[in-house]
Amino acid sequence: MLYGIISDIHSNLEALTSVLKQLKNVDKIICLGDVVGYGPNPNECVEEIRQLKIPTIAGNHDRAVTKDLVTTWFNANAKAAVKWTQQVITLENLEYLKNLPEVIVEDKFEIVHGSLRSPLEEYITNISEAIPTFDLMTQPLCFIGHTHRPMFIGLKNDGNFDGRTLKDNEEVFVGDYEKVIINVGSVGQPRDRDPRASYGAYNSKTKIFSLHRVAYDIVKVQKKMKAVNLPQFLIDRLAAGR
Ligand code: ZN
Repeated sequence: MLYGIISDIHSNLEALTSVLKQLKNVDKIICLGDVVGYGPNPNECVEEIRQLKIPTIAGNHDRAVTKDLVTTWFNANAKAAVKWTQQVITLENLEYLKNLPEVIVEDKFEIVHGSLRSPLEEYITNISEAIPTFDLMTQPLCFIGHTHRPMFIGLKNDGNFDGRTLKDNEEVFVGDYEKVIINVGSVGQPRDRDPRASYGAYNSKTKIFSLHRVAYDIVKVQKKMKAVNLPQFLIDRLAAGR
């Protein structure tokens, strides 16, 4: 089965549309949360995910918008975007976000937004931060998002670890490891200095994961953000990819 794995769309419809076009031939698409927050099209992004019946888990921004997560640890720009999203989101889409699960187990892999220890809040950026999640994994493979930086960490059979960031078209052979954690990067707000939308493809038969990037109309999104007065910092960072 060929899966498309997407995460951190962040109300960026242009980026989502570009990625979905690339994934039109996969068997199933899975989403790792943060459908909303930061960008100008929260309703359109939620509705696209709902319409395509894409299994999705909750991200911290989704739960911030539904007021089920305290946002004291959010920075001022993120808080401003949450507040704006709360003003425009429809009741039906709010209800959808409220009901998203925190973890989904699929065909020999599981998905969570941040980490299995703290699904909505913890960032995994290195091996030591990955260890508690490796311990909690019920499957050999776990896909995560949240940092907006594509990366993989593999636990080898001898107990040692491999880890690296993932660039466009890089592959990971999951079968080489006892357990693997893969961050697929962000569709709508990449932070690894590559502003193109990030997503993954996973073949559960060959156990090969590949990371991909696709360009989208960043200027169009920036104009929409400006029109609704979202913070300038959030507008600028899309083009910088950081
Ligand atoms: Zn995010």
